Amino acid sequence: MTTEGILDCTQANAYLKDFGRDGLSAEELLDSRAYAGITYNDFLILPGFIDFPASKVTLESKLTKKISLKVPFVSSPMDTVTEANMAITMALLGGIGILHHNCSIEDQAAMVRQVKKYENGFITDPVVLAPTNTVNDVRAVKERLGFCGIPVTETGKMNSKLLGIVTARDIQFLEEGNTKLADVMTKELVTARKGVTLEEANQLLRNCKKGKLPIVDQDGCLVALVARSDLLKNQSFPLASKSSTSKQLLCGAAVGTREEDKLRVAKLVEAGVDVVVLDSSQGNSVFQIDMIRHCKAAHPDLEIIAGNVVTWEQAANLIEAGADALRIGMGSGSICITQEVMAVGRPQATAVYQVARFARRFGVPVIADGGIGNVGHITKALALGASAVMMGSLLAGTTESPGEYFYHEGKRLKRYRGMGSLDAMERNKGDSGSQKRYYSEDSAVKVAQGVTGAVVDKGSIRKFVPYLITGLQHGLQDIGQPSLAGLQQGVTTGAVRFERRTPAAQAEGGVHGLYSYEKRLFA
Ligand code: IMP
Repeated sequence: MTTEGILDCTQANAYLKDFGRDGLSAEELLDSRAYAGITYNDFLILPGFIDFPASKVTLESKLTKKISLKVPFVSSPMDTVTEANMAITMALLGGIGILHHNCSIEDQAAMVRQVKKYENGFITDPVVLAPTNTVNDVRAVKERLGFCGIPVTETGKMNSKLLGIVTARDIQFLEEGNTKLADVMTKELVTARKGVTLEEANQLLRNCKKGKLPIVDQDGCLVALVARSDLLKNQSFPLASKSSTSKQLLCGAAVGTREEDKLRVAKLVEAGVDVVVLDSSQGNSVFQIDMIRHCKAAHPDLEIIAGNVVTWEQAANLIEAGADALRIGMGSGSICITQEVMAVGRPQATAVYQVARFARRFGVPVIADGGIGNVGHITKALALGASAVMMGSLLAGTTESPGEYFYHEGKRLKRYRGMGSLDAMERNKGDSGSQKRYYSEDSAVKVAQGVTGAVVDKGSIRKFVPYLITGLQHGLQDIGQPSLAGLQQGVTTGAVRFERRTPAAQAEGGVHGLYSYEKRLFA
């Protein structure tokens, strides 16, 4: 010690050892016996020491006991969020999509097949015509879909012998619309054999200067098409979530827990699904336990995410029954009125922390579901022990979510609705997975647990998800943790510190004091 009680600066770190740790440990922050339950906005993570670039932060994490993802993002099984297009793109970007079940078994299984047979850059379900189709048919396709260059096969379907291609040039000057394609199509074709890589196919397209490259099997049957117009779009997806054996994209699907859902699971497995989510708003039930046991016995390779749960006791039952992961959240969803109507639920940060803490002891990963409104919430959910986050509203309103855009007061919007909204429960009445999730199908009065709304156009998740990934990497860098595993370890040991936020602190943490502003999130 120097004069006047001023300490030697070179000893600042050594002095910290006596001074103590700043902030709170997760345990102190989230002791719900001492304090009320809290949610993501109620706290912040304190910054750590940075000695690595954000781009080096790795986000690999477990979705279930056996499935790992490079990016811990899951799209919610909602009919305004996840159908095949969303599931394909989420998997390409390193996450996974869970297909909703507010539809018939056949429709859901068809979506699984679409995801599983997707090959980036290869169009596996192109428009195909037969030699007996006419020039008028080609013009109709051009008018409807905006393109020509249509393969012609013997039967007019895929997996049938390729006979030719009909292009805009073939029909340009033909006045007779009833002319058969057999008489006008181009028969000298450049093709590639099944098994060709996308790189090789793109190179072939560049060399031959054609618009379309048909891919054929050993019998000359059409199996796919590569389009010149897609050359630039055919980016590579190094993080893509793929099965290690089949190399197909990973795909999840939601199911209910009733007797007829056993058939649904069987059909989904037949279609190649990797993981099913047992979709109940309150998962601690005899129905779920029975369903988990059934699935484990009938489909031993299938991974099962059970839930939703928010307490240790709920988790214990599902873990014991054999769940491979748990989904956490009750009442936290943006479209959700469960807490208001049912009086049950739990603030999400407390729910995630408590259930993750319990499930970790059994090696069961947990997914924080609902209430993720920004990148910061993702970082917080993962810090509290979630292995992945499930998002509804954040991914709704994107190009890949189902539904058409519409305009309201000058804003471009898409519909987003809770699966417990009356709107969703009334869809496909006989087949509605949504009614089952909310236990309403036998009741004379349907009690809504969700609302119907709209969200603003966010563009494609091909840009939005990379923004979320980069934002998360920056968050971890600020915390001083170069990996998710390191972050969770740091939280468990008390090395990562937290602070509560008062309502005033929350206001301070948002934009404030401006007359007006524009909030652009990424460029
Ligand atoms: P969000 O990401 O905050 O929009 O929440 C999405 C989550 O809300 C979903 O993954 C479901 O767990 C949950 N959810 C979906 N529909 C409803 C509903 O109608 N009522 C309550 N919760 C819902």
